[in-house]
Amino acid sequence: SIDEVEDDPKDLEGRAPIVTVMGHVDHGKTSLLDYIREENVIAGESGGITQHIGAYGVQLDSGQKIAFLDTPGHEAFTAMRARGAQVTDLAIIVIAADDDVMPQTKEAISHAQAAGVPIVFAINKVDKPTANPDKIKEKLASMNLLVEDWGGKIQSHDISAKTGLGVKELLEKVLLEAEILELKANPNRLASGTVVEAFLDKGRGYVSTVLVQNGTLKIGDYVLAGKNSGKVKAMQDERGNNIKEVGPSTPVSILGLDGAPQAGDKFNVLEDEREAKEIASKRAQLHREQSVRTQRH
Ligand code: GDP
Repeated sequence: SIDEVEDDPKDLEGRAPIVTVMGHVDHGKTSLLDYIREENVIAGESGGITQHIGAYGVQLDSGQKIAFLDTPGHEAFTAMRARGAQVTDLAIIVIAADDDVMPQTKEAISHAQAAGVPIVFAINKVDKPTANPDKIKEKLASMNLLVEDWGGKIQSHDISAKTGLGVKELLEKVLLEAEILELKANPNRLASGTVVEAFLDKGRGYVSTVLVQNGTLKIGDYVLAGKNSGKVKAMQDERGNNIKEVGPSTPVSILGLDGAPQAGDKFNVLEDEREAKEIASKRAQLHREQSVRTQRH
């Protein structure tokens, strides 16, 4: 059966935070994700990120790591939450300093609050002559969201996703906030986590990006993901490197599933291939029955 046994606290080790970037359209979410992706090359690795796999990891000069969900906007966040997936530890909410606290900004704030996910504000586009970060902070204060400059507890940092100004400091604040959460996982158990995206690749077959949240995922493991299952044949990181095993808070693309699970589906490694197949086919059967029923109505 699926290994949902709670971890003994003594087996837990610190893990990197998993971060989502949200905010109003055109406020700079994609630019920020791109800047972080391009500037951060994991120490000791040659070459930057070569493929978009829906998530990526970065390492700061301090050696600390952050995993980013690379799908900007809160659609991905809400879609995952709707499927019961709790992936994000922390949300960066981007607000353009030459604009205002806009409807989608407010939505993003309420989504993060509803999920109990701490917020770090990135006040963006401060390179623009028309930028007025203080106006944004004042507005936030009027909404009862007091940032540190205003004597509050919410972290915020002025940045330019275009020039990179302040981005490093923003990430340091993200790590500070993450420290408070004392994020932990047990690397010494069968892996479990969430599917970030999946698609059919002509040459390679079904490719699924998963985020390992607990345990260690290894080549040869039997994975059950939503209505799909399979033996992990190969794994690649966002740099296209082949890897043999990955621990908690690490995004990875896996090959070997018999289909494309949906974003937000949970995945588990089972001891036994037959069992993984059985559960997956029961789920698929249930799903077919449910869709027949919906069609009849
Ligand atoms: P998204 O819709 O939130 O993903 O926003 P984008 O990242 O696509 O940015 C929208 C527009 O704002 C693009 O034309 C970006 O080049 C521009 N932009 C984003 N960040 C900055 C910034 O820090 N400074 C300036 N001047 N322009 C920016």
